[in-house]
Amino acid sequence: MMIQTSGIVIRESPVNEHDKVITLLTRDYGVIRAFANGARLPKHKIAAASCLLTFSDFSLNKNEKSVFTVREATVNEVFFDLRKSVPALALAQYFAELSLTLAPREEVAKDFLRLLLNALALLCKNQKPHLLLKPTVELRMLSLAGYMPSLVACDGCGAYLTEEMRFCPGSGRLFCSACTPNARFVPVHGSVVTAMRHICFSPPEKVFAFRLTSERAMKELAEASERYVLQIVPERLMTLDFYKVLMT
Ligand SMILES: [Zn+2]
Repeated sequence: MMIQTSGIVIRESPVNEHDKVITLLTRDYGVIRAFANGARLPKHKIAAASCLLTFSDFSLNKNEKSVFTVREATVNEVFFDLRKSVPALALAQYFAELSLTLAPREEVAKDFLRLLLNALALLCKNQKPHLLLKPTVELRMLSLAGYMPSLVACDGCGAYLTEEMRFCPGSGRLFCSACTPNARFVPVHGSVVTAMRHICFSPPEKVFAFRLTSERAMKELAEASERYVLQIVPERLMTLDFYKVLMT
């Protein structure tokens, strides 16, 4: 059976000197692995589309054992500017690994794809601090995957917003300072709570449209978000480790 969909390469593994297996985050079928025969030959017709973080329109063959093979591909976007900055490329690879971990298999995943493509475009433009981009992708992707944190109000008394609140990564819940349970928490100022709500609750086209001005607030957001990721995702995220080594 032939299928058509657009998607981005989120992992590539060589098979031999000619061929590789690519993992795609696709609009219509979520995460799929596909044989890209010939893709390691530089002039092959599917070579360009089979490179990591390249977004293309694919024609794929799916056989009776649900094995996918790339037949044709037309490149839409290569995010060339990512290669100009090692930290930007490392963060992009982390976003790709997060998608691989959280996006559905063989189900529609257009919201995941849109989030990843928008994040890579913003990384290329280098106009948003990583300290904002990273938690935005993390919290939104976790929300899409069914792990939206409980951010509507203090989980104890229902207070909507106080000057300083606490986010518990272990439970994904928010508390005011009076109600904080005996659990590990990240202090988050009111502006950070508002940003977290924006990331999780806003319509897809507005996800990145918020600002936090103080460095302290951005760091709180980044810490709350990363600790929540580490709580939810059981596997070791090698790309996150690499990014953090780069940034220290
Ligand atoms: Zn409370």
